[in-house]
Formats: sequence, structure tokens, C-alpha cells
Amino acid sequence: MNIARRVLYVVTLSWALGLPAGAAEPIAKHHMIAAANPYAAQAGRQMMRAGGSAVDAAIAAQLVLTLVEPESSGIGGGDFMMVFDPRTKKVVSYDGRETAPASATPDMFLDATGKPRGHFDVVPGGLSTGVPGVIAMFDMAHRKYGRLPWAKLFVPAIKLAQNGFPVGRKLAATLRAFPQLAGMPDIKRYFYKTDGTPLAQGEILKNPELAATLRVIAKRGPKAFYRGTIAQHIVDAVQHAPVNPGGMTLADLASYHAVERPAVCGEYRTYRLCSMGPPSSGGVAVLQILGMLERFPATQLQPNSLSGVHLFTQASRLAFADRAMYLGDPDVVNVPVAGLLDKSYLAQRSTLIDPTKDMGMAVAGTPPQKHANFAPQKSQQLPGTSHLSVVDDRGQVVAMTMTVEFVFGSEIMANGFFLNNELTDFSFDPARDGKPVANAPAPGKRPMSAMSPTIVFGPDGKFVIATGSPGGPAIIDFVAQSLIDMIDGGMTAREAVAAPHMLNLNSPTILEKDTALGSLSAPLTAMGHTVSARELESGLHIVQRVHGGYVGGADPRRDGVALGD
Ligand code: GLU
Repeated sequence: MNIARRVLYVVTLSWALGLPAGAAEPIAKHHMIAAANPYAAQAGRQMMRAGGSAVDAAIAAQLVLTLVEPESSGIGGGDFMMVFDPRTKKVVSYDGRETAPASATPDMFLDATGKPRGHFDVVPGGLSTGVPGVIAMFDMAHRKYGRLPWAKLFVPAIKLAQNGFPVGRKLAATLRAFPQLAGMPDIKRYFYKTDGTPLAQGEILKNPELAATLRVIAKRGPKAFYRGTIAQHIVDAVQHAPVNPGGMTLADLASYHAVERPAVCGEYRTYRLCSMGPPSSGGVAVLQILGMLERFPATQLQPNSLSGVHLFTQASRLAFADRAMYLGDPDVVNVPVAGLLDKSYLAQRSTLIDPTKDMGMAVAGTPPQKHANFAPQKSQQLPGTSHLSVVDDRGQVVAMTMTVEFVFGSEIMANGFFLNNELTDFSFDPARDGKPVANAPAPGKRPMSAMSPTIVFGPDGKFVIATGSPGGPAIIDFVAQSLIDMIDGGMTAREAVAAPHMLNLNSPTILEKDTALGSLSAPLTAMGHTVSARELESGLHIVQRVHGGYVGGADPRRDGVALGD
């Protein structure tokens, strides 16, 4: 590979680089990847330089993230991958969401008196661990869209795990921020030094156990993960967890299936967007927010403007009310996706938005094709996720969001990787007010997600934006905002990832702390909002097609980069 012949590409380590907004951005002519860690982005680019597809690049990058960003994602968790195939001009989605084991019960997160247990009480240990979906989903996507041999995708992660890597800023900060994690033996053993302090940024961490695991999966394929020694170790870790042991069995692992699902698509102005459908609530909620805002002119939705923040929070309230009521695993409950995205339903919901005052708590609507009477869930999702976006030389596009749910998932390890705590994304209450909750736990069921990997096409039908973010339920607002900022606000990918965030998850309005949005606190309060300021942990990674190629943005709140040639 003659790198000199390629356009020299600048590493956009945006938090360190701090290029002023609007400065000429480097354009990649051939391919690009934006991911939450430089080693992951490099692995992805390496695959594309070797002729690999966007799917190959995404897989290689996620395998590296398992090692370098284990607090956020990994092969012990779940992923949703959107793929745009330039040959068919279609978007498909791959569902690698974790499933509840056969031993799961509707009351698994209730205490002896029938009340929901504390969220943080059940995060650590095996009870919260769902059957990991990443490797099965990679196999499915790779069979259809891979260009490089399966084993080659594992090479960067294996090398890095074997030789070691310098601990990144976010991993070190996470270890400092959660000292109580040292109470979990796997975390203590893996991240803590003999002097009792956690690894600091720049210190070298090796993981030969993970290297060996990846070698086996590289050589023998996904069955080496779902059957045999690795599967046995996962079951042992879950069943013998130091707290909250769970009931996952070898049969649960052997019966795991990834699913190819139709993408959930819709229009916003002259753009077409495709995102992840159920079991994610993300695609539906993002499209609902945009659909309800479409009647307002772009001038009223400008970034950092009072009307922009107010209108966005109102549409978000309405979307979150529907989400709590209707979203769940589509293989188990009948989710009225078409009804929730019906244009006249959204137009009618949008009339509930008063441009001059906060509507207060929104209630769910009655979409056409509503099938069942559910009760709205009360749930909490926590940040432990990562997103990457890729476009390859042939125009294949991937937007993929990956999670272990909370930081380091269930805080237990098997074979050198962390296991997820995704089952706490279920509603802890299986029923409320005598009605079932759509997102109640059940054997084999996938917990509802907020992950919203999204691919956007312009008026000419060509790909323009791939976006997505971590953030628990806030993902929906981070992603919807990034789209409005780019489509209506004319922002570039790099500007959109850095824009100050606002949220309303049908609760108080949250403005990102110490940003330009602070000045809107008083006028929003005067409009009836309850406003608070908070640090908001997004991790938007966006690739955007521009004249002459692609630009990318890596969220300055994380360690990521956008790399291309
Ligand atoms: N587990 C959450 C979900 O699937 C995501 C958590 C996060 O973004 O950190 O929606």
C-alpha cells in the first residue's frame, strides 16, 4: 500500500485538536471511519486499505473496542448494525441484541415484597447478563457483506491484546469515577495495580486471555463462541458471579440467533432516513421527533436558539411518552411501528406542541394499528455504549451502535472480556395498573434499547450522513439533534458532534453544563420548563458525504477520531 499516493489524512482527535468550527476540513476521497478510540478507527481503516468493506471495517473496529474501550462495548454485549448496500440501494439492519436466558421470569427484578429492586443493586453479577449477540451478528453481516476473510478482521485486536495498549483518557477516567468497581474481583484483577490504584492514562494494559479467545473465534468462527470452552466459561461466570448469580446455560448460548430486520425508514423534509427498529425504540423515536418538528420552518430550529431548544424538547416529550407505552421486542409484543410513524398521527401529535410554553408530562397517543393495551414502563438505562460510522470505497455505509449497557456491563469477565448487564434495560415492573408492560422480561426476549444508528440520504437519493451515539435513552435526543443541526442548521459532522446538547426525556429539560445553552435557562424557565444543567456523555461519531468525498466528526466528549484516505 503506497500511502503517499493517498490523500494525506489528518487524524481528527477532536478534543485535542480543537480545530475552530468552520475551518477547512480534511476530505477523504475514498473511505472513512469515525469511532470512539483511535486504535479502533485505525483497525477499521486498515481493513479498508486492504480492500475490505465497511462491514469488515466495523467488525475489526468493534473487536478492538472490546479491548480498548471495555467500559462501553465488546463481544460480551450486543450491537445493532445498519448497512446501506450501494448495489441494491437498500438499507438492512442487523439485530445482535442480547436475549434473556430461558430461566428469565417476569418478576426477576422484583424483591420479596413484589417491588422493583434498586437499579444499581442488580447491575453487577450474572442476573442482568443477556446472551451476547455481537459475534453471531458479525457472522451474519460478514457472510453477506464481508470482502476480507473472517480471520483477518481479528488481527488488529489480537495484536493489541497480546502486545498491550496505552490506557485511554476515558477508560482511566471511568476507573477513577467508579472506585466502588474495585469491589468486583475481575475488575480489581484486570485494572488495579498492587499499590491499590487503578491504571492511569498511558499505562500499558495487556490482555493475553482476550488475544487467545479472539484467536479461537478467528479460526473456528462463531460456533467457538456459542459452544464449547468459551461458552462454558461465560456460563460459569454468570452462574458463579460474586453477586446476583444468574441462570444462563449452555443451551441459551447455543440457541442464540442474530436477526436481519427491515430498517425503519421515514422522511424529514427532502431527506430520507433509515434507522434501527424494534427491539430498539431509537429509530421510531428519532423519526417521530423529526416528523413532529417538520411543520416548523428550519429558521425556528436553529442550533442554540430558544425556539429550537423549546420545540425540540416538546417533540421529544411526545416521542418518549409513546416509547414508554408501545416499544419492546417485536418477536414477543406487537409494536405498532407503522402507526407510530403514520404521517397524520404525527401531524396530530405535533398540534400538542405549543411554541410558547412547556406542555408538562406528555402522555402516549393512540396510533393507528395499536394492538394491545399496555401500561407505560418506568425504566432507567445507563451509559455503557459506543457508536461508529463507516463508508467504504464502493459506497457501502455502516452505522453501528454497540453496548454492554452500564460501564463494564455486569462487571464480570469471561475469557478476557466483560459480560453485559443488558437485561436491566427491561422494565423491572412486568405490569402496572393491571396492564402488562410491553418491555417486561421474558425468556428469550430482547430488552428494549434506545440505540439509534441512522443513515440519511439526500434529495438526490445519495448517502449523506451516518450517525449514532451512546447515552442510554438520551441517545434518541443526541441523534435527533445531530440530524436537525446538520439538516436544518447546516452544520458539518465535526460541528454537529461538538454542539451543546439539550434533552427532554419527558421529564425536566436538561441543558449541557457550561455551554452556550446556559443563557437559555431563564427564558425556558419563563416558558414553564423545569431546567437543570448537567454534563452529558454523548459519543456521536458521524461520517458525512460532502462535495469531493467524506468528512467525519468524533465526539469531543470521548477519545475518538475520524480517519480516512
Ligand atoms: N443499553 C442501552 C440501550 O441499549 C444503551 C446504554 C448506553 O447508551 O450507554 O439503549
